[in-house]
Amino acid sequence: MSVPSTPEELEAAATTPAPADGLAGRFVVHPNEHPATEEEISQVLAGPGFGRYFTDHMARATWTAEEGWHNHAIVPYGPLSLDPAGAVLHYGQEVFEGLKAYRHADGSLWLFRPTYNGARLNFSGHRLAIPELPVDDFVASLVNLVRQDRRWVPGAEGESLYLRPFIFASEAFLGVRAAAAYEYIVLASPAGAYFPNGFQPIKVWVEPDYHRAGPGGMGAAKTGGNYAASLLPKVTASAAGYDEVLFLDAATATNLDELGGMNVFVVYADGSVATPKLTGNILPGNTRSCIMQLLRRAGVEVREDTLALRDVVSGIQDGNVAEMFACGTAAVVTAIGQLTGEDFSVELPTHTVAQRIYEELTGIQNGTREDPFGWMYRIA
Ligand SMILES: *Cc1c(COP(=O)(O)O)cnc(C)c1O
Repeated sequence: MSVPSTPEELEAAATTPAPADGLAGRFVVHPNEHPATEEEISQVLAGPGFGRYFTDHMARATWTAEEGWHNHAIVPYGPLSLDPAGAVLHYGQEVFEGLKAYRHADGSLWLFRPTYNGARLNFSGHRLAIPELPVDDFVASLVNLVRQDRRWVPGAEGESLYLRPFIFASEAFLGVRAAAAYEYIVLASPAGAYFPNGFQPIKVWVEPDYHRAGPGGMGAAKTGGNYAASLLPKVTASAAGYDEVLFLDAATATNLDELGGMNVFVVYADGSVATPKLTGNILPGNTRSCIMQLLRRAGVEVREDTLALRDVVSGIQDGNVAEMFACGTAAVVTAIGQLTGEDFSVELPTHTVAQRIYEELTGIQNGTREDPFGWMYRIA
């Protein structure tokens, strides 16, 4: 299977099923000799928050031009030894993923559509000239890591074990070219409910000046550089009381792109739904893809389109637009309650569709609802 380089190829690659088993043991386990005690784990799981605590192990593999990917292993979690000339520190050559492992009521452990993330890691890697990691290796790393650290998978409503696979250029060389050595690592971090107090609509600042990505750039790739570009406007917006920043297209600054790390949807009064089409500046979200499939299955008209900010704002003012929401793996679905820009501020009081989609998607992930598309992948 070749590396997907368009969103259509990515979508197709995601439907290739991962092998049901036989993946076990592909990453050789070197056990942590000082694992956390049950008591330490229960303390963490009592209030994990997000991205703060890490499990006993991490998955790891190395790529060199001579050997390709080798040394696949599950090793104790701990600091890396990286040459200060390591290319990632200078030129940002890295890509990452984000997905979750869920514990169902019967104790079984599951991933959600891991082949999408595996294919997308290569889709992103293609843009940054990073070597392909076989999707089977990607899935095996998650299966082997979560099985090893299963004690750390929380099981309460909205909780999960967040998995962070990433690849970075490790070669010690300051010349500017694609590096000749890479590390693949997967971290696992228990995650609490994103909105412990229930569904909370967010305030969004529409950024007029700064962009996270531009035409021909790497906006469609999941790479740290895009996040770096989003931080300054985010700092300014947070200081002014906003939760998130909505970026506009860099070419004209008139159309919706996406939030710093979430895709965006508009729900119209006639019941139809639209999301910005994947222009190359917008990251092809797994949650975005799943929401479109679930809505279409329910008979809702879903358009991927150019969404002019002006039309969306006037639609909210004249009642043509009923709701807006953002989506991504971490928060699943987040209702937008207020949209503010340089010369407008509009309220969105209704969140019926956002709430329904949230419940449907989290129901599938938690095993309490039917999984009509076969997205769940059992790992233990
Ligand atoms: C990860 C990410 C998303 C959401 O993608 P999911 O696959 O749904 O988690 C959206 N936008 C950006 C910029 C992202 O990095």
